[in-house]
Order: sequence, then structure tokens, then C-alpha cells
Amino acid sequence: METNQSSWRMSASCRDADPDGLFVRGAEQNRAKAVCMGCPVRTECLAEALDGRISFGVWGGMTERERRALLRRRSDVTSWTELLEAAKRDALEGAQVS
Ligand code: SF4
Repeated sequence: METNQSSWRMSASCRDADPDGLFVRGAEQNRAKAVCMGCPVRTECLAEALDGRISFGVWGGMTERERRALLRRRSDVTSWTELLEAAKRDALEGAQVS
């Protein structure tokens, strides 16, 4: 049985890229983040990194440093998956209304 986790990974823009390309430092992180910008599963990827407290690499367009800062700022969030999925649904509904 395919899990939700593996299903989003199948659509990842970085799926066929060298995995080491996402685990880089400094200016190279901007190149890695650029791959994420058009990724259709960016929300799922970022949520997994935040909920899993993944401490290294670019996930969902954010570096580990940016994620740490976000986790500090929003220590009240218990499920990033729920929060980001709700935000995505709201955005889609808003787009359909206008
Ligand atoms: S958001 Fe970035 S790191 Fe995450 S799956 Fe997409 S391309 Fe890969």
C-alpha cells in the first residue's frame, strides 16, 4: 500500500536530481531553493521537515536555518501538516471565488 508520504515524493521536482544538491551550504542553497519554488509538493515537503524537526538540508524551499527561525517564531504550532494544508485549501478556495 502506498502511503501519503511516498505519494507526494513521487511528484517532487527534485525526484530525479542528485540528493546531495539539497544538502549544501552557503550560496549553493539558493540554487537548491530555486528547484523548490516550482515544486508541486512544496507544502507537503515543508510540513514534513517542520513536523519532523529535520535539521539539515533545503526542504520545501527553506534552509535549515530558516526553518529553525520559523519554529522558534511559531512554537505554538503543533502540526505544520495541518496548518499548511489548511492554508493551501484556503488559498485554492480563494482563487476559485475570485
Ligand atoms: S520542495 Fe524542494 S526539496 Fe521538497 S520535494 Fe520539492 S524540490 Fe524537493
